[in-house]
Amino acid sequence: MLTGILVRVNTTRVAKTVASILIAGAAACIGTAPAAAVPVSSAPGTAGLTPALASAYTSAWTEAKREGVQLSITSGKRSWAQQQQMWRDGVAQYGSASAARRWVLPPNESTHVSGRAIDVGPRTGAAWLETTGRRWGLCRTFDNEWWHFELVTIPGLPCPPRLPALDEMSVGPDRVGGMTLTAAMITVDTTDPLPLARWWAQQTGGEILAENEGWFVTVKISDAGPLLAFQKTADPTPGKNRIHLDFVADERAAAIEGLLAAGATHVADHDMPGFAWTVLADPDGNQFCVAQHG
Ligand SMILES: [Zn+2]
Repeated sequence: MLTGILVRVNTTRVAKTVASILIAGAAACIGTAPAAAVPVSSAPGTAGLTPALASAYTSAWTEAKREGVQLSITSGKRSWAQQQQMWRDGVAQYGSASAARRWVLPPNESTHVSGRAIDVGPRTGAAWLETTGRRWGLCRTFDNEWWHFELVTIPGLPCPPRLPALDEMSVGPDRVGGMTLTAAMITVDTTDPLPLARWWAQQTGGEILAENEGWFVTVKISDAGPLLAFQKTADPTPGKNRIHLDFVADERAAAIEGLLAAGATHVADHDMPGFAWTVLADPDGNQFCVAQHG
């Protein structure tokens, strides 16, 4: 089975192109309402968090349990009144609003109040999450708070640089230095969406979420990552795509053998010190890569 999706874009202007892909992805959603990938049962402490953060943390918490790592939320969603009380206590404790800002924010600025931050413990669990959290888009965001995590990167991509401390950010009620865009879906143009969507659902162990009469088919391929979507167009796939999916597999050779048997085409093998991958094409000619996990 394929896991660990990463989208790679061939370009010299990475940041700008990623932004335009996300915007293009949003534009492709017009007219459809794909079902959100909500986990069956959420981890303790996730009530009131945004669905994206609750889902990402639940995936991380499940993996932590599997690896025998202790991890729990010590503070998640806070009410306005709770944060107001914390802010008042902070000002009293540190002597002034400007001194208190290093450790606590007023309710209109706290990402805990908007359900977009979690504090975790114990310290060993937080350290584990700091190392592995980016798999689900979770990052430690402040130098002075080892416990505070937010959803600030695309699952699998590196975390943005940490901010020195709460008081040194330029803060606002909406968002504090980080991403405001979340990758929801990667959409592929094709002349025949349904068979291609079924093929990808099968290869990834995923499931088709919505068919929309065959013109826009969505596939859930992982619990935390973006959906795949297949959108009907009149033009056949013209040649090498300018965006591709990178997968990792625990048993790479076996995964590739299975994909070839299922109708994928072999394009190339690449090998460099410490990293080897195979380029394949799906039945429509869309190229993607499979590398060894870990
Ligand atoms: Zn926090």
